[in-house]
Amino acid sequence: MRAQALRSVFAIATALVLLAGCASNEGASPSAPAGAGQTDAGTNAPGGTAATPGESASQPGSPSGSESGATPPANPGSDGQAEPSGNSGNAPSPGSSAGAPAEGAPGASSGAPGTASPSGSPSPSAPAETVEYKGPVEHLFFHPLVAFPELAFDGDRISKGYDDWFVTVPEFKKMLEELYKRDYMLVSISSLYETKTVDGLPSAEAKKLRLPAGKKPLILSVDDINYYDYMRQNGNAWKLVPDSDGSVTAWARTPGGEERTDRDWELVPIVDDFVKAHPDFSWEGAKGVLALTGYEGVFGYRTNELDSPNYEKEKAEALDVIARLRDSGWLFASHSWGHVDANKVSLARLKQDTERWKKEVEPLVGPTDIFIYPYGSRVDDKDPKFAYLRSQGFDVFCSVGPAPYKIYRNGTLQMDRRHIDGVALRTQAKRLEPLFGDADLLDPARDAKAEGLQQ
Ligand SMILES: [Zn+2]
Repeated sequence: MRAQALRSVFAIATALVLLAGCASNEGASPSAPAGAGQTDAGTNAPGGTAATPGESASQPGSPSGSESGATPPANPGSDGQAEPSGNSGNAPSPGSSAGAPAEGAPGASSGAPGTASPSGSPSPSAPAETVEYKGPVEHLFFHPLVAFPELAFDGDRISKGYDDWFVTVPEFKKMLEELYKRDYMLVSISSLYETKTVDGLPSAEAKKLRLPAGKKPLILSVDDINYYDYMRQNGNAWKLVPDSDGSVTAWARTPGGEERTDRDWELVPIVDDFVKAHPDFSWEGAKGVLALTGYEGVFGYRTNELDSPNYEKEKAEALDVIARLRDSGWLFASHSWGHVDANKVSLARLKQDTERWKKEVEPLVGPTDIFIYPYGSRVDDKDPKFAYLRSQGFDVFCSVGPAPYKIYRNGTLQMDRRHIDGVALRTQAKRLEPLFGDADLLDPARDAKAEGLQQ
């Protein structure tokens, strides 16, 4: 009993940390390291990328003291010790993942106008006239959407985290409409770089981006699309499952106890459907990047329980979903195995963690060269941890920042992403105006929480 109680306290505390997670280090966003590398024109306006001092104060109401490198994920027992058990040498050799931005990446066809998408995903039927795009590249990130506001904003301890760090389904749908109206177009992150092998390592080099005239590129990513237990209890969907048309949909046990699917419960099917209805919202079938940890499996399948009698079934189902996602223009990224802060943990811990990701997650999603830092953290290029991550095949590193920012440096593409969540909607309306206009996006369903939390 006591153990159980303790465990649930841990789960809540760590869930809060995770909620804080992806977006928390905005203040650490690099102001453009002067002359340190090749930045794209327009992406690096002086002063434009440095986070304003006030912004780090947008730190979530998380137990920030516990955001030390030792912060365990929601499953403290298994991450804290993080035994790199059975790193059996079948882990891919460094660089073997070669960072090929392939993976059926729509962008792999190099942006040539009229090139068929290699993934067979929808692409505009008529060859569009393209021009080189030289402006800033927006990269927005989300968490799994709130499908059941009555659970997310019920006034419990985690409600504040949900209000800060998540968006609801109606909010996301409005955003898509606004982005589309403003001529944004989904592009694959792989259309921004070309991977070459330099000194045996995958190395990301700038690539020209060509888009239909008048369109602006937009990259989407979704962090922690693992459907952790705390998410299931607090208003997210439970898993992604195959749908009858070959795509994926979201499945959940509703607050009313019903078990069913609904395409409107998650960003992935919503984006799939939106692109189907508006093919000119996606360049060459690009969708977004799905950033995965491993400590509670992937996409709602508990593939972390290697010894479970259900493992093979969970794995087979996950593989089916993953193949469908890949075929429809989604890419996969490492978000570390245990949601670790790469800046704070030791090199040894980062190695254990990465080995575990490569053992448990990479065999499912395939090799990826994209690393999305948890906690909006980042590792300095001179840090041995950076060389280590490079040696493991990563050449694209994404953090969090308040404005579009990217730089090609030391064989890598480093890119900031804007966090789109309750904090952003409430406090950054001006900054978000180029994306969403002045539309009132906040979902009234959030107010249930506000009442619940009034003290
Ligand atoms: Zn995260």
